[in-house]
Parts: sequence; structure tokens; C-alpha cells
Amino acid sequence: MTLHGLMQDEPLLISSLIRHAAEQHGDREVVARTCEGPVHHSSWAEVERRGSRLAEALRALGVGEGDRVATLAWNTHRHLECFYGVSGIGAVLHTVNPRLFEEQIEYIVRHAEDRVLVFDLEFLPLVEKLATKCPDVQHFVLLAEGKDIPADATLANLHAYEDLLTAQTGQFVWPDFDERAASSLCYTSGTTGNPKGVLYSHRSTVLHALGANQPGVFGLKPTDCVMGMAPLYHANGWAMPYVLPLAGAKYVLPGSQIEPAACQELIEDERVTAAFAVPTVWTMMLGYLAQTGKKLETLERTFIGGTAVSQALRDAYRDDHGVEVVHLWGMTETSPLGTIGTPTARVAELPKEARDEQLLKQGRIPFGVKMKIVGGDGEEVKRDGEDFGAMWVKGPWIASGYFKGEGGDVLDPDGWFPTGDVGTFDEFGYMKITDRTKDVIKSGGEWISSIDLENLASAHPKVQLAAAVAAYHPKWDERPILVVVPVPGETVAKEDVLGTLEGKIAKWWMPDDVVVLDELPMTATGKIRKATLREQLWNHLVESAS
Ligand code: ADP
Repeated sequence: MTLHGLMQDEPLLISSLIRHAAEQHGDREVVARTCEGPVHHSSWAEVERRGSRLAEALRALGVGEGDRVATLAWNTHRHLECFYGVSGIGAVLHTVNPRLFEEQIEYIVRHAEDRVLVFDLEFLPLVEKLATKCPDVQHFVLLAEGKDIPADATLANLHAYEDLLTAQTGQFVWPDFDERAASSLCYTSGTTGNPKGVLYSHRSTVLHALGANQPGVFGLKPTDCVMGMAPLYHANGWAMPYVLPLAGAKYVLPGSQIEPAACQELIEDERVTAAFAVPTVWTMMLGYLAQTGKKLETLERTFIGGTAVSQALRDAYRDDHGVEVVHLWGMTETSPLGTIGTPTARVAELPKEARDEQLLKQGRIPFGVKMKIVGGDGEEVKRDGEDFGAMWVKGPWIASGYFKGEGGDVLDPDGWFPTGDVGTFDEFGYMKITDRTKDVIKSGGEWISSIDLENLASAHPKVQLAAAVAAYHPKWDERPILVVVPVPGETVAKEDVLGTLEGKIAKWWMPDDVVVLDELPMTATGKIRKATLREQLWNHLVESAS
């Protein structure tokens, strides 16, 4: 018989995060650019107050535990309030990516069986179309005031958010329930097949917020001012709505304007010290700063993930702008914190060049995440920074499957989740991504990293885009070929491209051919659709040989 400890068994609920922030950091600001443009100033106490009014309103509309409430909205204070108002009553916040194709949005809303759809005004035409196709949606909430509802809006059961809030008593008390209850839902775009829903729980979300606030991860302090540029629908805004109330930091949201001019202005005006976004956003910002001579005076560090950070990007921020770049890796299925590129004591003591190289990797494992890397032979690979294999993860904020069993049983018999990424581990405990499982090229049973080939080929000044994919080979099963799109107005020759790889890779990694195309197939989220390329070029080597 287990001797149980005698400590209180309080459930870990998302409402406890906002209650903490309201009580302990109530006057700490929450600043958001509205969709109309002007900047709105509020505070954690205000987010709690309005979030609880939304909770009361949703209950009055008949929303109960487990019901899904979808949002089609940008990074605004109202959208942030939904994170608490919806999950706080045990309903599920389903953040939908408005940039997906219309058919995908319809598929997702129907699949999730959303009962309420909350949206920004600019999505009204889209929502009116969805309404005819998604019969489960019973109420529509426009994130605006009553006077903003257009006279010609055709939706039945359309409510103005501000009117709903005003109509409540304000006497709402956050309820207690099972911490394992579902809290929010995020579909991964996926490059093949239908989108799949990752269903977070209150427990996973609170533990993740604690995990992200442990020393050596984001290192956020109450004195920090943090701008979340990752859209709130993308892995729930990289969890900033949950991480920042715990830290007691000031939160700055860019609204719908993630372009450099608007963000640079907010960073300066609000004295932002840390910011989160994908590499594309930071690359565009660099261009803007170079063009205008503007600065990011107060910014101390940026957290970058989603795709790999290049050395050029990291160096430009550090050397030209005094901004430290912290690399991180994660996925929707990991809440999203997986690894973080901050130094351990050993790495901090390395000579500068070695340390720089080390911190460009995707990073080390924080408490709460476990990871194993398994080679083609099914055995864990050596942690020598060379051998690579498929990465598997485990932990209390890692998905155990997808909503409604989509994709079947995904865990291995020991409970590990397949990330679909391929990487190495080094002696310092740092992970480096070398590929995606489906993109790795298997030549004679040995693996070739498509990402390494692409990075080298992209360094060629005349190459705008490069993709390395496997093509069928009668002897080796698969051999790499490179597909490149030249910079507009330029032409590139096969020998030219392969020349840039010479001496930088093992001889047997050298692509068997280079195919030049005008454009590459892309996904809605701007990633190269490699599966399509692979299909198109699978017989390329056999055909060109005959
Ligand atoms: P998807 O893009 O498939 O919809 P996610 O947004 O969850 O899903 O993306 C997760 C994937 O993004 C990871 O599995 C990995 O391939 C890639 N990724 C995330 N961070 C990094 C990084 N720092 N470096 C390289 N790849 C990354």
C-alpha cells in the first residue's frame, strides 16, 4: 500500500494563473494594438475581471464543460481574455488559424464541433460562409462593441463581445474541476493528410507554464516587458497567455500587425525587453532596421523557433543591435516547449567560437521533457553530435494522441511520442535538428540530412530556394536530388550548385542531380511541400538514366 503524502490536492487550473496575476501583479500592464489600429492599455487585474465576465456570459449562452469555443482572431486584449473566459469554465478554447485555406477552416470547425465562434470583424464574410456549412455553431461573438456590428450582417445569434460583458453581474467565481479536463485545442497544419487536433489539459498547461518559468529557460522576470509576436492561434501563441501571468511580466500584443514598422514602434513605445517570433519575422525586421536606421533600444533578447535560426540572423541581432538570440525547438504537440538554447555552466565556459556554435543548436532539455534519439536500426544513437536519428519525446505537456483518435495510436509501447524530427545529441546535452523523418534521404540504409544539403545550396548567391528530396535509385533505394529555384533573372547550372557543396559534405551525400524549377509547391503556412516534390520526382533518376 502506498503511504500518501498529506499535502493539499488543489487542482492545477488555468484560472489559477490569471488569479495569481490579478492578485500579485494586478497593475502590471497588458498592452495590445487593436485591429482598428490604436493601442489599448489594460492590466492583469483587468484581464481577470473581463475574462470572468466572459465566463459568466458563455455560461448564460449555455456553454458547458467540454464544449468547444472557436476563435478566429488576432493578438488583441479581447482574444487574450478568451483564454481565461473560455477555459475558466471548463470549456475548450479552439484557436483557429485564419490563414488556412477556407476548406481547411471549415473542416477544422466541423471536426471540433465548435458551439460558439468568436471572431474579429475582418473575418465576418468568412464566418457568414462558415455559418451555412457548420451547423453545430449556435452562437457567434464579434470581438467588438454593439455599434460595430454592420447593418447588413446576416448571422443569426450574433452577439457583440462588449455587450455580452456589460450585461453580466460581475459576481462570477472561478469554479474548481478536474485538472485533467481539456482546456484548449490547436490543429497542426500538417504537410500531408487532414489537420489533427492537439487537445491540451489544464494540468498540462499549468505545468508547461511552470516549466517555461523555471530558471535557465525563458528567464522572465516581473520587470520584463514581453512582446508575443507568434499569433495566438499558433501553439496558442507559444503559450505566452499562460507563461506571462505566472512571471508577472508586462505583456505587449501586436494585434493583426506583425509587420516590422508597427512592431518596432510598439517595442520602442512600450520598452519591450524580450520578444517571441519565428525567423521570418526577425529577418523582415532586420531589413526594416537597415533601411530606416531605426533601433530596438530596449530589447535585450529574442526567442526564436519554428524553423532553424541561421548564424547570420543570430550574429546580426547580437553584433549590430545588442540583442541576444535564444534558439528554441518545439511543436504544437509539445505545448510547445521542447528544447531551449540557453547555456549550461559547461557551455558558458567554452571559448567564444565553440560557445557560439553550441548555442546555435536547437538546445537542451528543460525539466519536464524527456527525449530519446533512435537510429535506423531501432537503437538509441550515440550522444556524440554526429550520429542522428528520429527524436521521440515524453512528459506531462507532450501529446498522447490526437483529438477523436485521429491518426490512431501514436505513442510507442513505452509511451514515447514521435516528433517527426531527426536530430543529433552532443556530449553537452544539446540537440540539433538535421531533418524531418519523412524528408530524410535513405541511401543504402544510411541517412542523409536534406536540411544540410538545402542550407549549403541556399548559400549560393543565385539560388533563392532549395529543397533536397529522395528519388528512387535501383541500387541504393534512394539518392538525394536537389531542386532549386534561381533568384529572379538569374540562371544556375548543376555544376555550379554542386560546387558549393564540394568538400563540405561526405562524398556519398553529393546529390545525383539538380533540377531547376520556377517555383516550389508551398503549404498554407509557407513551408515547402516536400511530399509533393518527392512524388513528382520519385522516378527522376531512372527516367533520366534511360
Ligand atoms: P506544423 O508546422 O507541422 O503545423 P508546428 O507548428 O507544430 O507544426 O511545427 C513543429 C515543427 O517545426 C517541428 O516538428 C520542427 O520540424 C519544426 N521546428 C520547430 N522549431 C524548430 C527549430 N528551432 N529548428 C528547426 N525546426 C524547428
